[in-house]
Amino acid sequence: MIKVCKFGGTSMADGNTIRRVAEILRADPARRYVVVSAPGKRFGGDVKVTDLLYAAHTELERTGACGESFRKACERFRSIVSELGLAFEIEELLAETEREIERERSVDFTASRGEYLAARIMAAFLEIPFIDARDVVKFRADGSLDGERTFTLTANALRGKRYAVVSGFYGEGADGKVRTFSRGGSDVSGAIVARAAGADLYENWTDVSGFLAADPRIVDDPERITALSYKELRELSYMGANVLHSDSIFPVREAEIPVLIKNTFRPEDEGTYILPTSKYHFTGKTVTGIAGKQNFTVIHIEKSLMNAEVGFAHRVLGVLLEHNISFEHMPSGIDTMSFVIDSECLKNGVLESLCEDIRKTVRPDGFRVFDDIALIAVVGHGMSRNVGTSAKLFNAIAKAGVNVRMIDQGSSELNIIVGVDNDQYSRTLRAAYEAFFLE
Ligand code: ASP
Repeated sequence: MIKVCKFGGTSMADGNTIRRVAEILRADPARRYVVVSAPGKRFGGDVKVTDLLYAAHTELERTGACGESFRKACERFRSIVSELGLAFEIEELLAETEREIERERSVDFTASRGEYLAARIMAAFLEIPFIDARDVVKFRADGSLDGERTFTLTANALRGKRYAVVSGFYGEGADGKVRTFSRGGSDVSGAIVARAAGADLYENWTDVSGFLAADPRIVDDPERITALSYKELRELSYMGANVLHSDSIFPVREAEIPVLIKNTFRPEDEGTYILPTSKYHFTGKTVTGIAGKQNFTVIHIEKSLMNAEVGFAHRVLGVLLEHNISFEHMPSGIDTMSFVIDSECLKNGVLESLCEDIRKTVRPDGFRVFDDIALIAVVGHGMSRNVGTSAKLFNAIAKAGVNVRMIDQGSSELNIIVGVDNDQYSRTLRAAYEAFFLE
């Protein structure tokens, strides 16, 4: 059994949290490969090391040298080493890092040093080998991850090492320079290592005990999701549940390796499993989770005999393409078609010119635009097995006195999406939660 464990920034925040990490690792010998983030916030109002390093790069651009922010980042590493009581040449390493940052002058290189230093310290504390992500994680010239090369190099580096620490968040570009993933990218690094190690489980350790069935800022004390499928994760994370983003685990998703979200500060909590469909068993629940987002615009087009007009949708989509606008959903009827678009993309006159071009191109009989729409997604494989899911949902929403502006159900029967006015968002979410979880 091989487990790969990724620890996020709050788990790496200071000496105490790093000791917890070490305890977690020692508690299970299958936890063999460790991927770490840079130290995160220790308390509300604290600054993450990665943010200090981005600020350090800005200072470097301005003055030509590492300044105050870099010193603050160094201070974080000094105190971690002293809190751990480690005999570790931190001063030498920090001085060398400063020289390299000033020589490289790249924002990615500077930002990556948080993970690099954290992994070096972690490896020294655990007394196990360190693997520099730069040597094993490779990007192509277009910036995408070179998966095959990365998995092979990582697997080779792990071979013969019973335990190892790998730095998260970065790798090396085709030009030989350090490149980072986007923010939060250590999740991808962990998934890469899990895939390369042929892990049985990818444990993602964070500061929450997994996914909740609804947003706790809206629903009181929502249930914890014990298991969800990759597909459900995609639906829920796309709609705003942000513990772990589905895109960030593509290396393990492709290899069908299960993920377990765990809480470093409550390791006894069960956590949430994310499972490939082949390993996912129906939990008996109709709905796995509910999530939502606000601020969408709906463009509604009507034209009689639309169903018989070949190429109608093609022409409308062509206009969206010309304006470089992506849509989230496209509910349609025989003579109607609607596009749900993130309002953010339609600012500064974009909406007006898009509408004008659609009108000119397809000459609709009716054309309306609604904004301030919120979407609520009720997600679960279970709904394909249970009769009456939508009846239950719409009954609950009607009882809550909410007017439904739009309905969309994918043919996969994995979700039902309901559009309501923004100001009815919380009420709808609570009504949906109560209907499926507090029956
Ligand atoms: N340290 C990086 C960030 O703050 C990457 C990560 O933590 O995953 O975005």
